[in-house]
Amino acid sequence: MNDAHAPEIWLLCGSQHLYGAEPLEQVADHAGRVATALDQAEQVPLPVRFRGVVTTPDEVHRACLEANADPACAGLLVWMHTFSPARMWIRGLTTLAKPLCHLHTQYHRELPWDALDMDYMNLHQAAHGDREAGFLHTRMRLGRAVVAGHWSDPDVHRRLSSWMRAAHAWHDLQGARIARFGDTMRGVAVTEGDKLAAQLRLGVAVDGYGVGDLVARVRAVPEGEVDELVAAYEDAYAVAAPLRHDGERHDALRDEARLELGLRAFLGEGGFNGFTTTFEDLHGLERLPGLAVQRLMADGYGFAAEGDWKTAALVRALKVMGRGQPGGTSFMEDYTYHLAPDGPLVLGAHMLEVCPSIARHTPSLEIHPLGIGAKADPVRLVFDTKAGAAINASLIDLGNRFRLVVNEVRTVEHPALPALPVARAVWVCEPDFATAVEAWIHAGGAHHTAFSFDVTTAELEAFAEIAGVELVVIDRHTDLRGLRQTLRLGEVYYGLKDGLRGG
Ligand code: MN
Repeated sequence: MNDAHAPEIWLLCGSQHLYGAEPLEQVADHAGRVATALDQAEQVPLPVRFRGVVTTPDEVHRACLEANADPACAGLLVWMHTFSPARMWIRGLTTLAKPLCHLHTQYHRELPWDALDMDYMNLHQAAHGDREAGFLHTRMRLGRAVVAGHWSDPDVHRRLSSWMRAAHAWHDLQGARIARFGDTMRGVAVTEGDKLAAQLRLGVAVDGYGVGDLVARVRAVPEGEVDELVAAYEDAYAVAAPLRHDGERHDALRDEARLELGLRAFLGEGGFNGFTTTFEDLHGLERLPGLAVQRLMADGYGFAAEGDWKTAALVRALKVMGRGQPGGTSFMEDYTYHLAPDGPLVLGAHMLEVCPSIARHTPSLEIHPLGIGAKADPVRLVFDTKAGAAINASLIDLGNRFRLVVNEVRTVEHPALPALPVARAVWVCEPDFATAVEAWIHAGGAHHTAFSFDVTTAELEAFAEIAGVELVVIDRHTDLRGLRQTLRLGEVYYGLKDGLRGG
């Protein structure tokens, strides 16, 4: 992945001076141990650093300013080991610009029933200290996560992990850049949107480039690099006969390698986190990039086709959320249906650009005609997808706000598809086909999605909270009437919450 270092999460522990020096030392010792345990926990994906006990408004304010200013800090965990009168937090939390998670825990797991005295009670006061904090967070309308339970509990680690993965994706998006080669596909509605609102709301900048700028970079690729990359393709994939060294289409493979190297150089030099292409604007390129896009996605770049910059940014965010996980994340499109009475299925694919991170076997490297775009035949990886639980997520622009629509799905084994020359996934939707698809269409979800085996609804829920973006979840609990009412309420809630600001 092209982010050099994972950021950190900071733990701040709240208290006050009422208790005297000795209890405060104990509080600091306990909080340090909690941070170390979280830092070392297998399921916790980011480093956790203890940043001290805060007991005054100035200390809280300073800690929040430090969190804001340090590019290594992706988010703040707060915990009130003892009572910490919450008005001391107002000035600091008003300035806090990093994601916030309220960890509601207690140092000791079990009550010392025989020895329990008032000293113990006064030292282990999270039960009411954290309620005082929670009231203020609610009073301030702070978007935050709340995770309750003992800090050694794997379920607490799992839930903290979801928030941290979301915070990491948020951290990555702040200042991120998406390069667009060409505009959105002509006439299409759902791939449109307000790029300025996206930068205000999500922190990601979307910048357009003439495809000629890319063509110049592709033409500058040395032939020696092309030789090396073609050799790497031959090692990594099952190369179809026409594309091999002695095959009649080998030049197309070399051309694709040149395309990958040019794209990689362009994106690397510009510090981009993702990109879009469109088959309608390939002036100066021989063919629509296929394999090149698939390999760049596998390396962590966000991507979507037809100029769909919202989905490109979302694919990038899910790539970061799923970092280190084995399942894979890809650009995807709901393509065609199997509507048989034995159970409807969705076949997802794209013209070319599905990420091999979700492949269940070594991909086959093939060349076939595209049928649109009137260009040379593109080179692409063809594969079936792993079987298992996954999600589809779509980010749409409703004019006054963004909405993130999520459907939990399960990919399944399916009959062979010998005539289909693209990578594909076949899935069933939760709670059932009709409810899921009707809900998706009522919610306005796109045909383009970010598809992931690694990211779950929990991470996307945390991400939506951090971003202040509306979230619509379609899962096994979804009831269509309730969902439609939630959509109506969302129109009111977000209209009031964001007012004229939009985005
Ligand atoms: Mn498409």
